[in-house]
Amino acid sequence: MATTSIRDNLLRLEERISAAARRAGRSSGEITLIGVSKTHPAEAIREAYDAGLRHFGENRVQEWEGKQAGIQGLGAKWHLIGHLQSNKAARAAKLFHSIDSVDDFPLAERLDRARSESGVTERIRVLIEVHIAKEEAKSGTAIEELPALVEKIVALPKLELAGLMCIPPFAENREEARPHFRRLRELRDGLAKRLACVLPVLSMGMSHDFEVAIEEGATEVRVGTALFGTRGTMKAGQ
Ligand SMILES: *Cc1c(COP(=O)(O)O)cnc(C)c1O
Repeated sequence: MATTSIRDNLLRLEERISAAARRAGRSSGEITLIGVSKTHPAEAIREAYDAGLRHFGENRVQEWEGKQAGIQGLGAKWHLIGHLQSNKAARAAKLFHSIDSVDDFPLAERLDRARSESGVTERIRVLIEVHIAKEEAKSGTAIEELPALVEKIVALPKLELAGLMCIPPFAENREEARPHFRRLRELRDGLAKRLACVLPVLSMGMSHDFEVAIEEGATEVRVGTALFGTRGTMKAGQ
């Protein structure tokens, strides 16, 4: 990994995404690769941008603020993919194009309010993170609470609810993630039908299981390690 460049990694990933899409009878144009740049410096983001990548994901508002100087002027889309504390919602609403990890209504309301106050006319895109497996440690909204949350969020004027996101438990065997990905797609299909709304986005799949996620309908895959290399020591809260 250390000797391959970000550009090489990106090419290889694009090939793997296309192959997985083909296996599922899908077009690779339906799938957006989000490069997860957490713990990597702004230079790495630039390198990926120069190689053609246009979507990036970060976990923490503060870490992202620290990289701003190094990425000025890049015409990319920035996604917040980590858990967002509500006291950072206003900052996040200014810095990101999309908050992919909304998991409760008070947070959604804060984002909505921050957007109106910021004077930005465009709505901010959000995804609801779903707690897809009965696992203690993960964040996300409970499946039982999802329909009510969707109904309330679609009513907020400054938010554009685009779909759902999940992080299944890590398993050595990536096939174990498949039922969780499938479940997220089924949940999305059910909600879209029931509420007569379009929820086009399914953000699911990371470095070790994105191909399985694509086979199950992912429209966005969030890939860190396979693009930027292994991360150094994790900071608390990641
Ligand atoms: C870190 C992270 C990723 C990327 O993980 P890799 O295994 O390095 O690809 C994707 N999504 C979320 C929410 C993350 O925190």
